[in-house]
Amino acid sequence: MAMTSQKRVHYFGRTKSEGNKEMKTLLGGKGANLAEMTSIGLPVPPGFTITTETCAEYTDIGGKLPDGLVDEVHSNMALLEEETGKTFGSEENPLLVSVRSGAAVSMPGMMDTVLNLGLTDKAVDGLANVSGSRRFALDAYRRLINMFGDVVMEVPHHKFEDEFDRIKDKYGVSEDTDLNEAGLEELITAYKAVYKGSTGNDFPQDPYQQLEKSVEAVFKSWNIPRAVRYREINEITGLLGTAVNVQTMVFGNMGDDSGTGVAFTRDPSTGENKFFGEFLINAQGEDVVAGIRTPQNVDEMVKWRPEIYENLLNMKRVLENHYREMQDIEYTIEKGNLFLLQTRTGKRTGRAAVTIAVEMVVEGRITQQEALLRVPANDLNQLLLPTFDTNAERDILTVGLPASPGAASGKIAFSADEAVDRTHEGESVILVRKDTSPEDVSGMHAAAGILTSTGGMTSHAAVVARGWGKCCIAGAGEVVIDEKNRSITIKGRTFGDQDIISIDGSSGELIAGDMPRMEPKLSEEFKSLMEWADSHRTLQVWTNADTPQDAERARNWGAQGIGLCRTEHMFFEGERITDMREMILAENEEERRVGLDKLLPHQREDFKGLFTAMQGLPVTVRLLDPPLHEFLPHEEHLQQELANRLQVPLARIKARVIQLHETNPMLGHRGCRLSISYPEILDMQATAITEAAIECRRNGIDARPEIMVPLVGTSKELSLLRKQIETIIQGVKEAKAYSDELDIPIGTMIEIPRAALTADEVAQHADFFSFGTNDLTQMTFGYSRDDVNSFLPNYIRHEILERDPFQSLDTRGVGQLVAMAVGKGRGEKKGMKMGICGEHGGDPLSIRFCHQTGLNYVSCSPFRVPVARLAAAQAAVKNDAGRD
Ligand code: ADP
Ligand code: MG
Ligand code: MG
Repeated sequence: MAMTSQKRVHYFGRTKSEGNKEMKTLLGGKGANLAEMTSIGLPVPPGFTITTETCAEYTDIGGKLPDGLVDEVHSNMALLEEETGKTFGSEENPLLVSVRSGAAVSMPGMMDTVLNLGLTDKAVDGLANVSGSRRFALDAYRRLINMFGDVVMEVPHHKFEDEFDRIKDKYGVSEDTDLNEAGLEELITAYKAVYKGSTGNDFPQDPYQQLEKSVEAVFKSWNIPRAVRYREINEITGLLGTAVNVQTMVFGNMGDDSGTGVAFTRDPSTGENKFFGEFLINAQGEDVVAGIRTPQNVDEMVKWRPEIYENLLNMKRVLENHYREMQDIEYTIEKGNLFLLQTRTGKRTGRAAVTIAVEMVVEGRITQQEALLRVPANDLNQLLLPTFDTNAERDILTVGLPASPGAASGKIAFSADEAVDRTHEGESVILVRKDTSPEDVSGMHAAAGILTSTGGMTSHAAVVARGWGKCCIAGAGEVVIDEKNRSITIKGRTFGDQDIISIDGSSGELIAGDMPRMEPKLSEEFKSLMEWADSHRTLQVWTNADTPQDAERARNWGAQGIGLCRTEHMFFEGERITDMREMILAENEEERRVGLDKLLPHQREDFKGLFTAMQGLPVTVRLLDPPLHEFLPHEEHLQQELANRLQVPLARIKARVIQLHETNPMLGHRGCRLSISYPEILDMQATAITEAAIECRRNGIDARPEIMVPLVGTSKELSLLRKQIETIIQGVKEAKAYSDELDIPIGTMIEIPRAALTADEVAQHADFFSFGTNDLTQMTFGYSRDDVNSFLPNYIRHEILERDPFQSLDTRGVGQLVAMAVGKGRGEKKGMKMGICGEHGGDPLSIRFCHQTGLNYVSCSPFRVPVARLAAAQAAVKNDAGRD
């Protein structure tokens, strides 16, 4: 990569602003928005941004700053000095800066910021001089040595802490802020010694050396494990690196008329249009985010400084008018003056996303189409999350901050690693911590819910949990955690690692014991959004359901048909499994028919239930699919039980199990192959379907069955079975003297690559195609879905695959087979109905592909139906807008 001629540094300030919000890829989100805010006249301390390309360059050339970069930084520093009237390193009026990372996608808390850069033994006098407070200047200096040492030079943080504790002790103070000038002087000397002890060098007295080392550290931090891990968990790929922002310092710790805070322009939990945030008086930067002191609610600011509060509300208006989106901001107040230090699109819960999008349409800020695109389809899941049963007795231990909604119960885990391990072992755990940091993300991800005893609504735990839609309570101050003894105590009640607690992320309540859950109630905004979705989408959304209850639930969520009813599930219920086993154990067709005759009435009743639940809508019934051995017991005592029950010798059962054993059952005797070998099974199923339909219709229920043949690989299989099914349907109609119109479409699944390749031939015998993308993926990749976990995570880590192809359709490979089959099938039969019924039918990215490929419907599990409806609408809106 030859990038030497490229502009690597972009300035933002009153004199010029060389970036804007569209430049996130190059300047990172933070840098792009700092430039944008500067351009629209908001009070942003001036500075400059080093591009993400430079970070990539740094990595490419083996981890050193590229030639010419330092010069460019120097000339931008000169601009900054000119604009601020201060000089970097000056002993009269020193310019101080922060060095901040910022990638195109926001990665909360991943890379650390260094504040107060540019302070030296000389400059600290200058700062004391202009600020009029030597104490303040010394405090800033000790913070710099600590942060620079810790973040940039990897000096162990506790070494600074130990010194601080020692000196506080010596001066008899408990709070950091109570240390006097003499104490701070001593602290600085001690810190310098720690620095030298760990790095072998003196703390740099050349401010440019501080700056260069910090810039380099930011670049380096792009590839530290916790950053890599965060990108992995959040599936962030394809970024160049992080940008570096160098920005003039403003101070929130200059006394009681100063402070710092973070805010959302609307409530990120509920979406309510209310300024929402927190602040700390006389504090600097990280103090709020780190959750060390618990901040005050921003509403309290009215009492403190009403004019600043007004000013903040005004900023909310300016920002929302400009960005037409809810913003998450960082601000600092220096001696009564408000500065904005960051803005970005605010992370929010699914519920808030829906409310904000719909209200912004009502407010006339955005269109319906924009609103549809603003809600990540998967986030709707959160609204469909259960809550604790409101009628259940709650043994409330304490109430913390409702940081992220949802309801979770689990045993107590005390560390991130423990949460990961115990979750893997199948336990449901709540991660309980004082606070969390980026090191904890794996455990936070694994846990069913998160509880912290300190920190506010914008603490690390709260922000990260909300981003995932994971239930979280923060700042539950009454929870005393004893990590050593593995227990927590709340108002005298103690719980250990085997005790279950429940957390309600919407109310902040911590509850003793397990809690019953219930279905969620849906808001008016949700209903509006779904109505808009339905009016914009062209793709239908069907569901995969085997029982009337599932069918009904899906129908309530808006399902327009059943795309897959797996009949095998029906054979496991109650007594039927015995009849099924008797049938499988039979030695000849005649005996088998005896078993099947017993199953027939059950199947018929099942179908009647389904047809009734879905009346007026299609119900696609798949004929028996799994290999027969799956229905037989494999453990000896169970086999013995069956032998007693059916009064057959145990040996016969064992022999049959051995006979049915296959090396690769997934590629073995299953699907339509079963129907070819045992036509009587198909006869029974087709009879049950037809009889059920006739009985329903005679009762005035508009039953609309369709019969689907699984695992077809050649057109011959289908033509043979189709004839057989047609004969049965005809026979049943005659036997029942049913003369009204009853058309039962017969189609096939396309799930074997050969069926896709010869789809024109297959189509001659099919009324519809349904893509069984689970098997199709399995067979196209040659990956066994059940064994894929041994290597797939590694494949994703190496970016061999962008994502799990069983979760999101591999459009480049498997998708080609789908598209080909659509083309060939419709070439043979114009307008042939096509759908997808694999797991992918509920995945937004796959749904987009289905829309583009011209499928008629996607079929997904009942609780994914609203997600699919929204995703289908998004696909239509994006296609109309020609967006990719
Ligand atoms: P993060 O990405 O972790 O939020 P930031 O760089 O945004 O890191 O900031 C860390 C903290 O330091 C924030 O509270 C921010 O407002 C504060 N901060 C950063 N730069 C400055 C500055 N120039 N003056 C004052 N505070 C700053
Ligand atoms: Mg940070
Ligand atoms: Mg920030």
